[in-house]
Amino acid sequence: VTEFTEDELIETIRKILSAEVPEVRLGPGDDAALVRMGPHLGVLTTDAMVEGIHFELGLIAPRDLGYKALTVNVSDVAAMGGSPRFGLVAVGLPPDTQASWVVELFGGLREAADEYAMTIVGGDLSRSPGVFVSVAVTGEVAEGSAVTRSGARSGDRLVVTGRLGAAAGGLRLSKAPSGEVGSALSADWGHDLLNAHFRPVARVGEGQTLARAGATAMMDISDGLTKDLARLCRASGVGAVLTPALVPVAPALDQLKGFLPIDPLALALEGGEDFELLAALPPAAVEATVTMLRERFGTPLSEIGEVRMEEGLVAVEPDGSERPLEPGGWDHFAP
Ligand SMILES: [Mg+2]
Repeated sequence: VTEFTEDELIETIRKILSAEVPEVRLGPGDDAALVRMGPHLGVLTTDAMVEGIHFELGLIAPRDLGYKALTVNVSDVAAMGGSPRFGLVAVGLPPDTQASWVVELFGGLREAADEYAMTIVGGDLSRSPGVFVSVAVTGEVAEGSAVTRSGARSGDRLVVTGRLGAAAGGLRLSKAPSGEVGSALSADWGHDLLNAHFRPVARVGEGQTLARAGATAMMDISDGLTKDLARLCRASGVGAVLTPALVPVAPALDQLKGFLPIDPLALALEGGEDFELLAALPPAAVEATVTMLRERFGTPLSEIGEVRMEEGLVAVEPDGSERPLEPGGWDHFAP
């Protein structure tokens, strides 16, 4: 940020984010934004992306970083069955950051805001030893329609949207020496994996459909299926039986296996950042919900297991044998 003063940069960002939205009484530029809060419940969430922890500057384009930083927040709103409305963005930048980099970052934030029909109404810029992008999103959900992690009941079926492991595969592909994975980077399947990592999709419509279908508990999968399933079970005071053979594995991982030493099922079970939805549904609702998600959104919904009374996670193999399932996955505070 050497070519602009802070005020000039804020003015540039304000232009990028400008929008005529009736509920916004006052957008960026004052001490705070003024928005009308409707008759619905507000859904509020925030998530930060920190250089060296969540991303490496040399590996992610600023536009993708902005896009992803907003989308991961939208995903949390989707996981409540809510609809995103407004965003606030706090950015930390080292003094030598180029203005064009910042413009690209906010271009990506704007692009994601448009994708999810929401509006960024303000934020904060700070000098920082490393880059961070901290986003807060508000959304809304009708009274009685919000789905938490804590309502799963014994006998509910566990379902998951989309296919898992692609984001973790994309991360590995992006970090691999290009000499080893050159042709993978130019293949459609390689592009799909990178896209899953750099441009995740928040399942907003799917989350609302699952909520309406009677989901008793729901969350987005940010830290890996087994780890997040363990969290959902803990919140609900239940356990679960998971059938690994039913877990939908991203097909591109089979191709990636030819280039890198990966186990597709392990990435599907433990790789993070897929931002698919994990939900518990009453058995009678499963079939109709699978059809609805396919017809409305083209999104697969897979039944992967069942909630049960006894606490803990258990994996069932195709021969019917059971073994305890260790909840592995991304841990922000692991050494
Ligand atoms: Mg979440």
